[in-house]
Amino acid sequence: MTIHRWISIKCPCNHVFDFMLPQSITTWLYPEMVQTLVDGGYYQTSCPECRKAIIIEGELMVNAPQGIVLIRTGPPEELKEILYRLEIVDETGKPFSSQEISDRLKHNLNNLDDNPFLKKQRELFEDQKNFLAKFKKEENEKEKK
Ligand SMILES: [Zn+2]
Repeated sequence: MTIHRWISIKCPCNHVFDFMLPQSITTWLYPEMVQTLVDGGYYQTSCPECRKAIIIEGELMVNAPQGIVLIRTGPPEELKEILYRLEIVDETGKPFSSQEISDRLKHNLNNLDDNPFLKKQRELFEDQKNFLAKFKKEENEKEKK
């Protein structure tokens, strides 16, 4: 499931309107969201009042073969470079298929030493899981008393 949120945008004409951004994109599950991201649907829109083109300054959590990264939604040129480095699009900017993204993630997980960023995130995730498990256990023990 993908959680969306509304952000408020103020046009130079002073018109204020709401724009919907996904909280996060799991790139191997939602090819249509990857396509929207690549096409600019999450970083550009136009004012419903005066039709002026507007670049959205938002943040988006992207779950990619290279790890989970919080990216800023603009400007477009930088975004394409980031998506390429995260292994979501090829060097021409074309999105990989869900299968391809999933295969890349599997490959990276099997070669964590070549992917230090992903390795660090996995370690943090394991730490957090262990912490939560320990925390829950302690809570349960408290309740028993
Ligand atoms: Zn406007």
